[in-house]
Amino acid sequence: MSTVPPPQSKGGMADNIPPPPAYSWSGGTSQPMPQQQQHLNVTTVNMGPQGALVMFPRVPISITCQFCQASIVTSVEMVNGDATWRAACILCLLVGIIGCLIPFCMDSTKDAVHKCPNCKVVLGTDPGHFC
Ligand SMILES: [Zn+2]
Repeated sequence: MSTVPPPQSKGGMADNIPPPPAYSWSGGTSQPMPQQQQHLNVTTVNMGPQGALVMFPRVPISITCQFCQASIVTSVEMVNGDATWRAACILCLLVGIIGCLIPFCMDSTKDAVHKCPNCKVVLGTDPGHFC
């Protein structure tokens, strides 16, 4: 048994007529209006549930971790930051190739990264300073 459905042809007219355009172009006088709404990308920084901005010094501090809620003393790790590379570039120009190695031995130019010893999450950073 082979029941072939009848073709969906209305018959008579050609089926290949493209549909009319949805818009009506009226002579080009109506230009598309530019969108004047330019929203500024405002970055909202939420500093914890209390909204308290915690200033991180360059030494370990006692703080309540906002991730694991434990009362911990942060572990500070010195990493090379912007100030380290800036100092290296300047000293390289002033002193030479030996001078550019000095900032990498100075903790004051490095970023102090405070981590939670419990959950290893970075809680805050004190950027290094140079000059
Ligand atoms: Zn933690």
